[in-house]
Amino acid sequence: MLFRSKFQSDVLRKLVFLDGLSGVFNRRYFDQQISVEWARSVRATSPLSLLLLDVDYFKLYNDHYGHVAGDECLKAIATVLRGAVHRPADLVARFGGEEFVLLLPDTASAGAAIVAKRIHAQLAELGVPHLSSPIGAHVTVSIGVAELRPGSTSCLQLLLAAADAALYQAKQRGRNRTEIDGL
Ligand code: GH3
Ligand code: MG
Ligand code: MG
Repeated sequence: MLFRSKFQSDVLRKLVFLDGLSGVFNRRYFDQQISVEWARSVRATSPLSLLLLDVDYFKLYNDHYGHVAGDECLKAIATVLRGAVHRPADLVARFGGEEFVLLLPDTASAGAAIVAKRIHAQLAELGVPHLSSPIGAHVTVSIGVAELRPGSTSCLQLLLAAADAALYQAKQRGRNRTEIDGL
């Protein structure tokens, strides 16, 4: 069919680029956008921040409350993430399983740290019970932040690796916290 209404193409776009469970963008869209934003940041010598977020002790959450409740919990976290970013260019996506990513163009790690702090605070305020968590009574997340500094000659894969390494450190250092790495 050659003709498609705007409504139809909007619906198709949503099906292709949104995560069905959480309503945020999916991995496919994130992979596409990070390349675009990386190239733009390098060209404009502007910073770019990436937050990689993983739910703490989520396997225990599923074991305790069941998978349906686990899915509801992921939806609640996605809502918190959407509320934690304020600029139109900021992107929230599900990276896979119980991991999410936030991509913040024109934002250095200090700004990303403010967003991360907001996420921890809003999750604490929401207070989703997690009675089997070894570190507290509520659902928490660990966050790894990586920043592409203006003028850096690094590569996209290293930005992702840096966020992953920072997330690993956040887990090692007790969870429910944010660690920052830079390129
Ligand atoms: P850690 O604090 O080290 O991250 O512990 P963890 O238990 O969260 O980590 P692990 O990677 O071992 O477990 C992730 C679990 O997340 C596995 C699975 O039970 C759960 N999970 C992943 N995707 C989904 C999903 O879409 N729905 C539900 N309900 N659970 C999911
Ligand atoms: Mg995980
Ligand atoms: Mg986890």
